[in-house]
Amino acid sequence: MEKKLVVCPYCASGCKISFTVENNKIIKAEGANGFTNQGELCLKGYYGWEFLNDTRLLTPRLTQPMVRYRKGDPFTTVSWDEAIRFASSKLMDIKEKHGPDSIFISGCARGPGNEANYVTQKFARAVIGTNNVDCCARVCHGPSVTALEKTLGSGAMSNSIVEIEDTKCLLIFGYNAADSHPIVARRILKAKQKGAKIIVCDPRVIESSRIADIHLQMKNGSNMALVNAFINTLIEENLYNREFVENYSEGFEKMRELVSKYTPENTAEITGLDPKMVREAVRMYAAAPSATILWGMGVTQWGQGVETCMGLSNIAVITGNLARPNVGVGPVRGQNNVQGSCDMGATPGQFPGYQSVEDPEIRAKFEKAWGVKSLPAKKGIPITEVGHNVEEGKLKAVYIFGEDPLQTEPDLSSVREAYEKLELVIVQDIFMTKTAMQADVIFPATSWGEHEGVYSAADRGFQYFEKAIEPKGNVKPDWEIHSLMATAMGYPMKYKNTKEIWDEMRELCPLYYGATYEKMAGLGYVPWPCLTLDDPGDQWMYKGNRFATPSGKAQLIASDWRPPLDQVDDDFPLILSTVREVGHYSCRSMTGNCSALQTLADEPGYVQMNTTDAQELGIKDEQLVWVESRRGKVISRAKVSERTNRGAVYMTYQWWIGACNELTIEHLDPYSKTPEYKYSAVRLHKIEDQ
Ligand code: SF4
Repeated sequence: MEKKLVVCPYCASGCKISFTVENNKIIKAEGANGFTNQGELCLKGYYGWEFLNDTRLLTPRLTQPMVRYRKGDPFTTVSWDEAIRFASSKLMDIKEKHGPDSIFISGCARGPGNEANYVTQKFARAVIGTNNVDCCARVCHGPSVTALEKTLGSGAMSNSIVEIEDTKCLLIFGYNAADSHPIVARRILKAKQKGAKIIVCDPRVIESSRIADIHLQMKNGSNMALVNAFINTLIEENLYNREFVENYSEGFEKMRELVSKYTPENTAEITGLDPKMVREAVRMYAAAPSATILWGMGVTQWGQGVETCMGLSNIAVITGNLARPNVGVGPVRGQNNVQGSCDMGATPGQFPGYQSVEDPEIRAKFEKAWGVKSLPAKKGIPITEVGHNVEEGKLKAVYIFGEDPLQTEPDLSSVREAYEKLELVIVQDIFMTKTAMQADVIFPATSWGEHEGVYSAADRGFQYFEKAIEPKGNVKPDWEIHSLMATAMGYPMKYKNTKEIWDEMRELCPLYYGATYEKMAGLGYVPWPCLTLDDPGDQWMYKGNRFATPSGKAQLIASDWRPPLDQVDDDFPLILSTVREVGHYSCRSMTGNCSALQTLADEPGYVQMNTTDAQELGIKDEQLVWVESRRGKVISRAKVSERTNRGAVYMTYQWWIGACNELTIEHLDPYSKTPEYKYSAVRLHKIEDQ
């Protein structure tokens, strides 16, 4: 028996797991004493590894390369040489005929790790010659990255997860930690036990609201109005930190003018909240000696996600709750390595280390290091605009790496139609996902547990994870597959291991230069910025109140509230919002193949609804129902309770039967291109009615 130390791949809390391994099988998982989890795990950490031992569970693991020689043909199992030959020659033909920007490459925010994402974006930029590379950050915390880069200079949590328990006030906005990040939820609980005040802004009764001092149970779609009312009250009641504003920020007067009409009283109709309660919450936040704002996809997955994140940043800035321990802004990233895939430049506008593709000096640095004459200067397209670009005839091929857009993108029928028109779909994954089923080429990859590398936790902490077992089947690590493709396309890529990739990346990224494998060994945790070899990394950012913006000052940027795009009416009277399920992760390809997790929730998923709404529709708890929007119709099972607010229903997005993204609207945030998953008009019927 031996012990192997890995990082849990099921959320960006970054918990360290100690596996006991015998005869190439994992026997058990225990919480290791990692920086964030300190020996604790949630049930996904304890039970989310079963598929690593058995490749024949519900959905078979992909264990052989496969090719579909003609559209409509069945898959043929082929050798790696043949799969690489077929895929690379097809890609080269498409590049030759339609140009490099006719190809889109995805990064992967899940199990592969940072090294694989570094190689992916290098493959896109240096080999294909396009910035059309993106990852699922686009559909979750893209707005947080865009907003915080603009306001504070760095698109990430300002402070670490462990500091949450020592803050004196938590403002939790559109974030259900108990379902999304159970170990973060433990920190919230500990903060409460240590006397912190807790304010929750959420339309539903969630676990955090049960321990909250104030629960602002706002109407769906009112985020920006409530944030503006918060800022308005801070200013008009003189509760802000004048000295911090004057010395360390810019844009106060313009922001003050814009929010002047958003008093709690004026916004009550939009938010549905008692103005007195809003004022009480603002005073509670302002009175705390240290305060932290946590937010999740209840803030970001809106057509106005970026502006709302900038508003939350404004609240932290004008109260001086930044640039010291136990305060700050906390967009808690969802997928385990979504911070990392952004850190590694798997985004259309930035090289690794958040260096702009539009900057000629930065491009020259990467051109020299990568040995290419020129790199593309124009920003690429985001993953959420793949469909439109296919429809417009601009995009001909996609190479999807560890993502499942045919399950996770909004308005799935239009995404399916677009994928059917593509000349080439390459999928690199560990399971036969819905996207893989529509592929022309399948590259079977190793899973977490079967390879090593580095993940970035939500709080910017780099952590190394070991390979625990030898993979089963004819599979390869993701970075090796991309390297084989690059070599076949005339750009030799011959990395020996992940360390070699990591060291190449560090040399090109001043922000991460000091984060060596040696520093991350064992239980090591190295947050960026980590500029030198003797720098331990910054657990909290903006030391000396110096922000990472061009002027060094925090930017205060306010925006008017806009209503959601889809509107409820007599035909579609309920609001559908997508949410998370504690037992399952992302598109469920991994957790759905672990029996302990599968017993917690199985298909069809639930549609959560309010008791009174259910009574009016004659729907009983657990009854099968149709849920229908202007875009599609799915079967689900009603979960009726008082925890859901009236007029809204909530579904998780991972089910094949009852896939709620058949119903969601595409409406994208204009800046981050993130879809408005949180507001689609729907109607419900009992199955017997049909
Ligand atoms: Fe894994 Fe997240 Fe649970 Fe930690 S909180 S064990 S990282 S799923």
